[in-house]
Amino acid sequence: MRIEIMTLFPEMCEAVLGGSIIGRARKAGLIEINCRQIRDYAYNKHNRVDDTPYGGGMGMVMQCEPIYRCYMAVCDEMGTKPHTIYMSPKGKIFTQERAAELSRLENIAILCGHYEGVDQRIIDRIVDEEISAGDYVLTGGEIPAMAVTDAVARMCDGVLTDNVCFMEESIYSGLLEYPHYTRPEIWEGEKVPEILLSGHHENIQKWRKQQSLEITAMRRPEMYEKYISEHPCISKKD
Ligand code: SAM
Repeated sequence: MRIEIMTLFPEMCEAVLGGSIIGRARKAGLIEINCRQIRDYAYNKHNRVDDTPYGGGMGMVMQCEPIYRCYMAVCDEMGTKPHTIYMSPKGKIFTQERAAELSRLENIAILCGHYEGVDQRIIDRIVDEEISAGDYVLTGGEIPAMAVTDAVARMCDGVLTDNVCFMEESIYSGLLEYPHYTRPEIWEGEKVPEILLSGHHENIQKWRKQQSLEITAMRRPEMYEKYISEHPCISKKD
């Protein structure tokens, strides 16, 4: 998979996506991620990429042409039109399900807005979908783009040591995950649940499932109801 992030702040994205699991996956050639400076595609002598909004109002709007030239360079290099996402608070809220679907694509381009956003005409021309990180407004699309890239990349084959890692996790499994514990066995008088020390794999699995069900019922009742309706063999706890 190849992901191209089109941004005015590539160094921000590189700082995050160059480290840890995603950074290692990039170095190992499991996934290609490029952070592209839109300003490099500005055609005026001051590399200007924004202007005041028609009709008046606050802030600046990112112009079509530098973004379009950046996007065309991406298409030329990929040899195809990538699935193109604009990060926007007006988009559909990002989910684990969408991350899984996107992880099956070959080529993705992500456009990060800044200031008041981008000229609507470039959205109409190149964007396939608008994705929101949540119901709040950030200063730019970089943090949402990094969240999408991380969530998508970690679901690509080979990025995690085993796909079971994400299959058993919160949300993907349809439930929130059970609690984790590690050494020492007693910390500040608090003991690890006895069952986890028993070595009895089947009972541990049962306990974890029960914990998942209880946590989900308490914190995300709508998710719990959906899970129960899809798994009729699990009896509902009041
Ligand atoms: N004026 C825009 C509005 O009211 O919808 C908000 C612009 S915001 C200050 C600047 C940029 O940050 C947006 O163009 C978008 O790319 C990004 N952004 C802000 N909040 C976001 C969110 N919740 N999800 C995804 N992107 C977001």
